Amino acid sequence: MLELSTPIKYVKRVGERVAEALAKRGVETVEDLLYHLPFRYEDRLNPLPIGELKAGAMASVIGEVRGSVLLRTRSMPLFEMTVGQGLSTVKCMWFHGEYLRDKFRVGQMVALYGKVEASRSSAGRFKMIQPQFEILPEREGPEAEFVRLEMGRIVPVYEFLGGTTAWGAKLTSRWLRRVLWGIFEEIEEQSGTVLETLPPALLERLKLPGRLEALRSIHFPEAGTPMAELMSAATPGHRRLIFEELFYLELGLELKRRRLREREGTAFSTGANVRQAIKQVLPFHPTTAQKRALGEIVGDMRKPQPMRRLLQGDVGSGKTIVAMQAALVAIENGYQAALMAPTEILATQHYFSTRKLMGDVLSPRTGKPYRVTLLTGSLDEGAKREARGRIFRGETDLAIGTHALIEDKVDFENLGLVIVDEQHRFGVQQRFRLMKKDTALDPDVLVMTATPIPRTLALTLYGDLDVSVIDELPPGRTPIVTRRTTEERADDVWGFVRKQVAAGRQAYIVYPVIEGAKDDQPELDFAQDDEIEGTGNRDQGSGASLQSADSKRPLKGGKTKKGRGVKAGAKAAERLFPKAKLRSATEMYDELRSGALAGLRLGLLHGRLSADDKEVAMRRFQRGDTDVLIATTVIEVGVDVPNASVMVVEHAERFGLAQMHQLRGRVGRGAAKSYCILMTAGQVSEQAEARLNAMVQTQNGFELAELDLQQRGPGEFFGTRQAGLPEFRVANLVRDRALLELAKKEAAKFAEQPDPAVPQEERDAVWTRLKQQWQRRYGLVEA
Ligand code: ADP
Ligand code: MG
Repeated sequence: MLELSTPIKYVKRVGERVAEALAKRGVETVEDLLYHLPFRYEDRLNPLPIGELKAGAMASVIGEVRGSVLLRTRSMPLFEMTVGQGLSTVKCMWFHGEYLRDKFRVGQMVALYGKVEASRSSAGRFKMIQPQFEILPEREGPEAEFVRLEMGRIVPVYEFLGGTTAWGAKLTSRWLRRVLWGIFEEIEEQSGTVLETLPPALLERLKLPGRLEALRSIHFPEAGTPMAELMSAATPGHRRLIFEELFYLELGLELKRRRLREREGTAFSTGANVRQAIKQVLPFHPTTAQKRALGEIVGDMRKPQPMRRLLQGDVGSGKTIVAMQAALVAIENGYQAALMAPTEILATQHYFSTRKLMGDVLSPRTGKPYRVTLLTGSLDEGAKREARGRIFRGETDLAIGTHALIEDKVDFENLGLVIVDEQHRFGVQQRFRLMKKDTALDPDVLVMTATPIPRTLALTLYGDLDVSVIDELPPGRTPIVTRRTTEERADDVWGFVRKQVAAGRQAYIVYPVIEGAKDDQPELDFAQDDEIEGTGNRDQGSGASLQSADSKRPLKGGKTKKGRGVKAGAKAAERLFPKAKLRSATEMYDELRSGALAGLRLGLLHGRLSADDKEVAMRRFQRGDTDVLIATTVIEVGVDVPNASVMVVEHAERFGLAQMHQLRGRVGRGAAKSYCILMTAGQVSEQAEARLNAMVQTQNGFELAELDLQQRGPGEFFGTRQAGLPEFRVANLVRDRALLELAKKEAAKFAEQPDPAVPQEERDAVWTRLKQQWQRRYGLVEA
């Protein structure tokens, strides 16, 4: 009996060997295979006449093999085949096509898919370069039973799952189709149903099909299903599966929100002490947006439930001071506050600026100065022990640190508020650990991020959080002038840097790597100097991770559907245009010091320096003792030196959008006019081109985020693993925003009150399923 949970090896045509290969791709059961959905379809019901082909478009063509020849050109063997329909023909070519020599027979029917190009030799005719092909089964012959599967219908095409059959053939789309067809037939013969996962009454109301019907219609669409809907995953079948996935996600988040509301936290009061404290500390008038955000935060803090709030605000919008004010609320209530930053540099900077801000101020409550303690992983053991002691004994009001703050050894006396800066650089697990620090009462938690995310997505990604947005920059900022240029014009750039320094300003020059990197590094999609703590990258060891982290980055789009085949293409392109040698921070530091920037005071900062050296380099720059800071992306987050007015990014073609935006955010923090110069070297890919142009055109973080999201897809964009967002089987957060809204609404409704149309046992089934899923896929179950 075939069930969804049946191991795949028992399915006809699969067997032990293939099952092993499939397991490597996460396909272990019948259900897993059924959710391996086609990524495109070919219309073999109404195939395109060759006469209607258009140059430049992707097309699928069915025709008869008329003849083929293997040409030995000077550079490579070329396999050419002519495919015809009646009198029209199209020529197909495959480079290095020896392997195709004995593949085709004249008279065979083949299905082709690929890009159409106009023939150069004969006007009005077309050719297809390297099309994908499938030899169609014959009406009479050993494969006749598959004719109805592969011809005269809309045919699904699947992503290759790896592996080969027992006789060494690849597990092609054709193979998958046959296996899947067999599964559907068997299910039909048995009971004709699969376990339904949503209440039928709900499906009926939303006009969505049942689960089996949905799966079947996606794998084997009925004649007449609009191709456009199929290709954009918008058929009722697709919508049903997407909705289901998002419904359970939203239901889980809804449940978490509800549980949180039942928990006990601290109700802070905001009396005269707090007002007085804030007044003493605040160095400037907050913007309206800052006031609004603080109002929302304080509103939460006054409630007896623990706060879970996300403070979102573009780079430089002034989140820190808002967080500091929140910290004062907790401290003036006699509680401790903790501020956690993803990098040592940032934590240290926060520590010093906080000391400056409130070091000499007396707390209205105690009449004594505020006590601030820094705790990072690279402090020596003694210093760490002492810091932990002060935190534990309550001799610290505000603890500032890195991931070291959530280590098990750190206990707070009475932690009231946790602030997580640049939260997108932390893993979810770390965030949760910090939240759970105090066992008696839940501390309030404020997480901050500069990654602008469209609101609906933010609510899902941080589904358990309320969101405040600072959508206004502090006054007096002039827009940052952003320019592109190339390495060849470097001298002009250095001249400009000298001019700015002569005018009393400072500059950053950022490189993608610390030192001489190999030429064969793939383009960085989201280069980062992995100084982020946690996830195995502790302070001390972190420096060494840069180069390996870089070279591990996948090629742009290599994993996304759009990027299919990009990898191979990129390899070929690299052979044709070898990558220019990468300039690196250390080498350029030496070169510039004795060359173009001789006489200026240069500093060097990267992840491989010791914590002390990093701090010294950062503080010298902060004090204005260095003019130009040559760095890697360690300075990407949080660093705040208002006098710096120039950001030069070398090899800008290698940086991701979010990252360039963050880097640019390091300047334009003071009143002086600021500049961001994006320098490229060598070939710039189409995508990099789009990123650079977007940077020049807009400074709006939300617009850039949209483009980034489109380019990289949600998985890469959010750093799915890092953010704790599940990998979806069907849904795509960008494409399916409308369904996400619907799922959210329905989930809230479902949790709120029983729908009389849904029987109790169906409701129970939903909750049971949620529990299983939440556990298996999100791994974040709370007790
Ligand atoms: P981010 O949101 O990127 O963390 P910061 O908190 O570092 O931004 O603030 C950026 C800069 O703006 C800092 O130098 C800060 O002192 C300054 N700043 C913040 N709020 C205001 C304000 N209301 N008026 C003037 N300057 C401000
Ligand atoms: Mg900040």
